[in-house]
Amino acid sequence: MLGTGLIKGLTVTAKNFVGSFHDPARFVTTQYPEERTTLPESFRNFPFLVHDGDQAIDGLRCVACKICENECPPQCIYIIPERDERGRPAKKPRVFDIDVSVCMSCQICVEVCPFDAIKMDQQYEIATPERFASLLLHREQLAKPNAYFHQIHPTEAAEVDARLAAMKRAAEEKKAAAAPKPPAPSAPTV
Ligand code: SF4
Ligand code: SF4
Repeated sequence: MLGTGLIKGLTVTAKNFVGSFHDPARFVTTQYPEERTTLPESFRNFPFLVHDGDQAIDGLRCVACKICENECPPQCIYIIPERDERGRPAKKPRVFDIDVSVCMSCQICVEVCPFDAIKMDQQYEIATPERFASLLLHREQLAKPNAYFHQIHPTEAAEVDARLAAMKRAAEEKKAAAAPKPPAPSAPTV
């Protein structure tokens, strides 16, 4: 019949129009800030520093090697390594700052870190009227526990844990193999 296709098309349009007001799965607008979208695991914005255990600063994985600082394209990472009483590097950052107003979220710092010490965060509510000091994040603000890393990137965090555990096991086995063996018992004299 002439016009059947047109009627079918208009029916589909009408169903979709009505459905978009009544079917929650099809609502496209999130009423922020009352509602928040569940972020996908792959979402990232700015880096944070992972720490193990309860002590945020003492537990940092970062050894202040400065690789990320050197590789960061816009040069927005600033690190001063800690020194011991004899002036030797203590393998910890005394200062670790990231200017997130300059960071371009490229994740290169994460890719180059040999210690899985820096990861990408999902914290997006950082708007502030103060452009400079408020967006220069220090190590105290950047340090977050491994449990938080698991919360926002569970797949990647589980892979990192497995890798670090395997590296620790291999190091312990190597150390045990290199340890001096006890002398073999001498044969009894007659
Ligand atoms: S975050 Fe990683 S690459 Fe950067 S200084 Fe620390 S250990 Fe080195
Ligand atoms: S994400 Fe990119 S721009 Fe941001 S601190 Fe890391 S390397 Fe620098």
